[in-house]
Amino acid sequence: MNTFEQHESEVRGYCRNFPALFASAKGAWMTGHDGRRYLDFFAGAGVLNYGHNPDKLKSALLEYIERDGITHSLDMYSEAKQAFIDRFQSVILAPRQLSYKMQFPGPTGTNAVEAALKLARKVTGREQVVSFTNAFHGMTLGALAVTGNGFKRAGAGVSLQNTSSIPFCGFMGDGPDTLDFFEAMLNDNGSGMEMPAAVIVETVQAEGGVNVASVGWLQRLRKITEEHGIVLIVDDIQVGCGRTGKFFSFEEAGIVPDMVTLSKSLSGYGIPMALVLIKPELDQWAPGEHNGTFRGHNPGFVTATKALDYWENDWLEKSVGHKSKIVRERLQQMVDRMDVAAEVRGRGLIYGIAFEDREIAPQVSQACFKEGMVVETAGIEDNVLKLLPSLTISDEDLVLGLDTIEKCLGNVLKQGQRKSA
Ligand code: PLP
Repeated sequence: MNTFEQHESEVRGYCRNFPALFASAKGAWMTGHDGRRYLDFFAGAGVLNYGHNPDKLKSALLEYIERDGITHSLDMYSEAKQAFIDRFQSVILAPRQLSYKMQFPGPTGTNAVEAALKLARKVTGREQVVSFTNAFHGMTLGALAVTGNGFKRAGAGVSLQNTSSIPFCGFMGDGPDTLDFFEAMLNDNGSGMEMPAAVIVETVQAEGGVNVASVGWLQRLRKITEEHGIVLIVDDIQVGCGRTGKFFSFEEAGIVPDMVTLSKSLSGYGIPMALVLIKPELDQWAPGEHNGTFRGHNPGFVTATKALDYWENDWLEKSVGHKSKIVRERLQQMVDRMDVAAEVRGRGLIYGIAFEDREIAPQVSQACFKEGMVVETAGIEDNVLKLLPSLTISDEDLVLGLDTIEKCLGNVLKQGQRKSA
C-alpha cells in the first residue's frame, strides 16, 4: 500500500484515474517522478489556462517572495491587491464597458458561489434560487443545493433547500425552448414557483458534460430575469478567463450579468483565488458581513495581475479561435470516420465527445493515460470525453493530443467489436 492509500481519505478521486506520482510540470506537460511525461488535456479542470508554471508569472511571484512582499493580510489593503484591482479594471472591465464592484471571498470557486447566492438573497429578500439540470457550482451546502449531480447532492447528508432546478438549454432535445417552461412558471400565479432571488447559470456546463447554451437562450434568460427583477449570476469559474475565447464566456451573447463568479484560472498559476463581480447597486453587504481568513491571497494577486498581460491585446483570443477550429474539425472527422454514435460539442477550447455508449469515454481516457496523456470524462454518466487543454498549448502538442485520442478511440472501438462478435 502506498502513502496515499494508507493515509489519505477514501474521498480522493482523480488520482484513481491518473495514478502517477507527479513531480513537475511545464506548459502543457506534466512529469512523473519516474521521468515519464504526460500531455495535459485536463489543465487542472480549468485552473491552468496559461499552462503549468508560465515563466512570466513565475518570475513575478519569485520576485515578490524574494523581497518579502506581504503574503497574508486578510482583507486589509495591500500593494499586490491594489495592483490587481487597478489592472483588472483597466484591462478587463473598462474596455468591455462593465461596471462591477469586486469581492474577494475565500479562495475556491465554491466560496465565490456561496457569496453570490447569499448576497442575491439579501438584496432581494427572497429565498429561492433557480439553477439548471446538470449544473455544477461546488461542494459547500449552498453551492451543492444548486448543483444537479445526484451522487454529490446525496453526500450533503441534509436536505438541500431553497432551490429549484429547471431544464438547461437542450435538456429536452432540439425541439422545445426550455425557457418557455421557466417563463410560463414565472407568469402564472398558480405555478407553485416562488419568485426566485436569483438564477445561477454556466454558459457552458463543464462538469455536467460540456453542454453549451446557445446565444439566443442566454439572451432570453437575461431578458426574463431582468423583467422579473431576478438577479442573474453567471458562474464563469470553469469557462471564464478565456476558456471560450473571450475573457468572459457571456461576452459572445452580449449580455451583462448582475453578478459573475470567477476562480480557477484567475490567478493564472494554480494559486487559489476567487472573485465575485457585483453590479454596484447590488453591493449591499455590511462591512465584514461575509468574511473568511484567506480572502485575497497576495501571491495570487501577483500572478493574477501578470496574467492580465495576456488580455492587453486580442492575441490569445484569436489563438483560441484558431485552435478551437482545429479541435472541432478533427473531433468531428474522427467521429464520422469511425461511425460511432457520438456528438461533438464545445466552444473555444472546451470540447466534449458525448458517446451514446457510456463505456467508451472512460475507456478512452484510460487508454490515453497509458499513452502518456491526461484527459478526463464528464457528464452524469461519465459518457463525455472532455478536452480542456491549456489555451497556450502549441499547435503541435494540440495535434499530438488529438492523434492520441484518435488512436485510443480506434482501439477501444475495435476491442468493443471483438467483444460483441
Ligand atoms: N463552479 C463551476 C462552474 C465549477 O466548474 C466548479 C468546479 O469545478 C466550481 C464552481 C467549484 O469550484 P471549487 O472546486 O474551486 O470550489
